[in-house]
Amino acid sequence: MKGVSIVGHLLVLCCFLLPFLTVSCQGQKISTLSGLDLVVGKTIKQENFGQTTERKSKPEPLAIAAAVCMVTALALVSLSRSGAVTAILANIGGVVTLLLLKSKIIEDAAREASGMVVTFESGFFLALGGAILCAVINGSIVAQKGKEQSRVSAPEKTVEGRYCGSCGNQVPPGTTFCERCGSKIRNA
Ligand SMILES: [Zn+2]
Repeated sequence: MKGVSIVGHLLVLCCFLLPFLTVSCQGQKISTLSGLDLVVGKTIKQENFGQTTERKSKPEPLAIAAAVCMVTALALVSLSRSGAVTAILANIGGVVTLLLLKSKIIEDAAREASGMVVTFESGFFLALGGAILCAVINGSIVAQKGKEQSRVSAPEKTVEGRYCGSCGNQVPPGTTFCERCGSKIRNA
């Protein structure tokens, strides 16, 4: 399951290389930005009546945060045995920052008010879905580990957990009468 989780995180990070969104203006496609473009920023060339204007898109802090969340989750899962719990939090952080990124970009485009339309592409939704899936996988790792722990500690409890009701003496399982005071041991 740990291997599945690691592959899942790597796939989400690979999604950052896919197109996240397309910017178009008056029905004309201007540029396609990948998740990586959002992280590092990209120069967008816009041709307008034979004139080329260059605009540099700034690195999006939320895109950086989302990538950092997924890298952190990957490191937690692969390096630490008990990292899955914290990794889930990092996964949720990735999902939330991706959603915030989406609404921020849509807001920014609306503010420009120059007929600019942003369409989100499959890479973004794959990354978002992948991050949610990673949280689920890490959740099952945590659940599996919990089950293993209870399986280990369960037999010890039944051996140690029988005491005489009268004097409190610990008695071995299957004992009918207390060795110390002779009281009948009730089967719990
Ligand atoms: Zn006793």
